Amino acid sequence: LVGFSGAILSYIMCKAMNRSIINVIFGGFGSESGGGEDSAGAAAAEKGVKSASVEDAVYWMEDANRVIIVPGYGMAVAQAQHALKEMMELLEARDVEVKFAVHPVAGRMPGHMNVLLAEADIPYDHVLEMDEINPEFASTDVVLVVGANDVVNPAARTDQSSPIYGMPILDAGKAKNIYFLKRSMKPGYSGVDNLLFYQDNCSLVFGDAKDTIEGMVTSLKGGFTYGSMTLETVDKNGVEYDHISYDSSVSPIEVGTSNPATAQEYVAFKFVLYRDGKTTSAGPTFKGY
Ligand code: NDP
Repeated sequence: LVGFSGAILSYIMCKAMNRSIINVIFGGFGSESGGGEDSAGAAAAEKGVKSASVEDAVYWMEDANRVIIVPGYGMAVAQAQHALKEMMELLEARDVEVKFAVHPVAGRMPGHMNVLLAEADIPYDHVLEMDEINPEFASTDVVLVVGANDVVNPAARTDQSSPIYGMPILDAGKAKNIYFLKRSMKPGYSGVDNLLFYQDNCSLVFGDAKDTIEGMVTSLKGGFTYGSMTLETVDKNGVEYDHISYDSSVSPIEVGTSNPATAQEYVAFKFVLYRDGKTTSAGPTFKGY
């Protein structure tokens, strides 16, 4: 009976969130659950490349002294600059220094990144050119590479047979942790594999860069993403939790329409929360849209 009522509740939740039940049940935390990312993750694992979730990257960014964001062509494709601005503000509110490192040929035209960052009102003093920022990578906790690839590829220094050999690069690889936001294992403009992917301090967060950054913003605001669904914290109760999992036997506590003007449906429900590896009932409630 419990199992069956859980199934009905799951169905209600899925309907309200416009997701298929298969997608909810088999979707993972912190990343889009579409087949694209799943197969990208599998392709990465096959090559010995680590993949990470939105939550992993946020965990390190929140505690960082400095985060450097390296935007590239993929940021332009995804139009992720506005979400990046919001993420920058949330990190700065936690006393994390945030800088943007712009390579002279990042994107597909001169000044491409500068234009997009300016469009999102990212202050000029946060945007540094390659020569200015390169000495700072070695003392940086997290580098977030947002749809850039060739401009951080160490092959430009080490592989004489590479078409990018001799191109100056951003020293992203010297940071403590590097997270690459991209959709697949595909190379950038030059068509060559990125040697940085194979470094121990590097992980790939698969997905469209805008979706991924928006997931990070949600997470920094106290909510999180569950598969492709965005969850906002309704009440936080000041609880710190290690991880959260959905249990279909846990009832949604409310089903309704959050805003009559937009008539957006939502389901509010509690997740199973873990603290110090044990379940805790005093967790926050989330609304899923
Ligand atoms: P790259 O072309 O090296 O890499 C772009 C990366 O963005 C890809 O790895 C791609 O991976 C990812 N990407 C694409 N769309 C998305 C998306 N929606 N979300 C997340 N990631 C995405 O870009 P760089 O900026 O690092 O380098 C620029 C390159 O272009 C250099 O090789 C440069 O020489 C060349 N170039 C630059 C010009 C300029 O004037 N700036 C002019 C002509 C060429 P995936 O597909 O897996 O998502």
